[in-house]
Amino acid sequence: MRVAVPTESAGERRVALVPDSVGRLRAAGFAVAVEADAGASAGFPDAEYAAAGADVVPHAELLAGAQAVVRVAAPSAAEVAELAPGTVLVGFLSPLTDAAGIDRLAQRGVIAFAMESIPRITRAQTMDALSSQSTVAGYKAVVAAADRLPRLFPLLMTAAGTVAPAKVLVVGAGVAGLQAIATARRLGAVVSGFDVRPAVREQVESLGAAFLELGIQGAETSGGYAAELTAEEQARQQAALEERIPEFDVVVTTALVPGRPAPKLIPASAVETMRPGSVIVDLAAEAGGNCELTEPGAEVERSGVTIVGFTDFASRMPYHASQLYSRNVTALLLHLAPGGELALDFEDEITGGACVAGPQVTA
Ligand code: NAD
Repeated sequence: MRVAVPTESAGERRVALVPDSVGRLRAAGFAVAVEADAGASAGFPDAEYAAAGADVVPHAELLAGAQAVVRVAAPSAAEVAELAPGTVLVGFLSPLTDAAGIDRLAQRGVIAFAMESIPRITRAQTMDALSSQSTVAGYKAVVAAADRLPRLFPLLMTAAGTVAPAKVLVVGAGVAGLQAIATARRLGAVVSGFDVRPAVREQVESLGAAFLELGIQGAETSGGYAAELTAEEQARQQAALEERIPEFDVVVTTALVPGRPAPKLIPASAVETMRPGSVIVDLAAEAGGNCELTEPGAEVERSGVTIVGFTDFASRMPYHASQLYSRNVTALLLHLAPGGELALDFEDEITGGACVAGPQVTA
């Protein structure tokens, strides 16, 4: 099977396959074509792809003979129109929120696999790109907060006096939140974490953080995700958080409910109670944000508080984000095409679960 790796559209710095994976796929019987400069913004030059056995080609030649196209972000309408019917496409395709995009792929006859839809079962752990990219984003969120905070993170005892450590709150302790907690701890902050899923308390505490008691507990779905709180529970959570938030210098929010708008946890009134110079990093910005004042894609200052609402944290750490994503994609390709021969079994939980457009998906 010939796999094509396009250069991502403007703004996305990651690349779907790194040279190391090209080598692995070649050894497993695949041929790989990489668009010139596809890895440049992530730190992987064309020469490394060529050395790993890829054909580095201009855009016009990329899709010739390719049975599969692997990407990071979903293709634009123009990019979909370039795909031959029957092509296998792999990428983050937002199946729960971009019905028009999925429909476009189906209309084109593309067999599309969404990285978000890979079931989170043990057998598919190596393909779990939501986790790998959330890990990078959680780290980067804390580094961004530390960079913007006018205070030091660690406790310092110097001849010029003692500096108290920064206080960091992480709301939503899934994959990104737990990495944010670990990173803030490594930088020396005093860290608290909160999540509505009761199972998370132990994980927060095992990282050396305190679990923030808000008296709110939600349900966990069978997939390990949080169920959405009722309006009354959300209002109680907002009020409880508002009371505690002035204690913190940094708040990192990561609370998400799959396929739903992000829960609004931090009202504007809570931001006003924070000390000037404090920082909120809202990792839920892509789904609208956990803070009422977040502007998705932007960094703003409100009441002296910096609110970072970037929607591309993993893309801002493109080398390692690409390396991890590439391993996830490679594991999926090896699953879909063992020995380099496409063999799609839609009865299989991973293949059937991840496929969002194709012959077996009924509208
Ligand atoms: P996510 O990105 O959907 O959500 C992030 C966090 O926000 C979750 O922990 C969720 O409980 C929390 N949240 C939702 N509403 C909230 C609210 N109102 N207040 C506070 N927190 C709220 O989730 P995720 O990080 O992708 O993963 C969630 C869980 O899925 C993991 O912790 C784990 O249990 C499970 N998981 C399993 C596997 C596996 O291989 N089996 C892999 C990855 C994750």
